[in-house]
Amino acid sequence: MQYYGEHVGPYPWEQYTVIEGGDGGMEYPMCTLVRGNRNLRSLVGVTAHEMAHAWFQGLLATNESLHEWMDEGFTSWVESEFLAEEFNESRDQPHYWAYGGYLNLVRDGGEEPLSTHADHYVTNRAYGTGAYSKGEVLLNQLAVVIGKEARDAGIRRYYDEWAFKHPGPIDFKRVMERESGLELDTYFQYMLNSTHHVDVAITAVRITDDSTFIDLERIGKLPLPVDLRITAADGQVMDHHIPQVVTQGHRPLAEGEALLPTWPWTHPTYTVALAGSMPGSTIEIDPEGWTADANRKNNTVTFESGLLQEWRGPASDR
Ligand SMILES: [Zn+2]
Repeated sequence: MQYYGEHVGPYPWEQYTVIEGGDGGMEYPMCTLVRGNRNLRSLVGVTAHEMAHAWFQGLLATNESLHEWMDEGFTSWVESEFLAEEFNESRDQPHYWAYGGYLNLVRDGGEEPLSTHADHYVTNRAYGTGAYSKGEVLLNQLAVVIGKEARDAGIRRYYDEWAFKHPGPIDFKRVMERESGLELDTYFQYMLNSTHHVDVAITAVRITDDSTFIDLERIGKLPLPVDLRITAADGQVMDHHIPQVVTQGHRPLAEGEALLPTWPWTHPTYTVALAGSMPGSTIEIDPEGWTADANRKNNTVTFESGLLQEWRGPASDR
């Protein structure tokens, strides 16, 4: 409760009750049913989840039939953040299971838009994976667009402005827009109303005596900013950020990170042109794994020093 209080907002009542009973866990305001006879990790996990619902639906009372991702998705996100810290596990990717579950559904072709009414999905899996896993991905991946600091501050601001009220998707989007100063129409439009996904590929690299050209292709149709890391043969790391034109700006850059021209969402391809010849480098898209990229095999190219002046990815990757 202390963790959620710090990361979302204060729990305003003096009591919360965990009641042994039911099957699995089922949350209510100020209390939850939890089934007994389970190991400590499982007991803490289910309690952490149900307790987080005191914020995401109890205090921030969204309509969970219409906007199930704001209830189960946000609850799952803060639960994963807490468990990673409490049990010191998955510290590099607390949301590993959410990304995996969502991407398996994408690859199986079973996804339905998150804007679907909870009672009217064709399959229960599309509802469950959409509400819980894609909802968690939506909130985590927002950091790719606006930065982790603005995303985290936006969650606290969402609490400050909307606790004890009935926020909807537009209210949440507007909080994140005001916090970041960026336009987020396109991110929410694609994440909620479409089943397009992210897949950006490195398709070709050309190295001349004084320049390096890296061709990228947006294979999945969901447009996001792209983070590109080049690690030189001597270990030097050069990070680059390619904003999406639709956000009317970009997240704050890290120290030493270079800003590249925007990539319009209308253009399926983009060429990074850098001064300097960089043989022996490793080039990687989304090196820290924030993006739910459906095919990470086409995200990295490594080549040996001096051997290769031109590299072209296999057609099967596209
Ligand atoms: Zn839940």
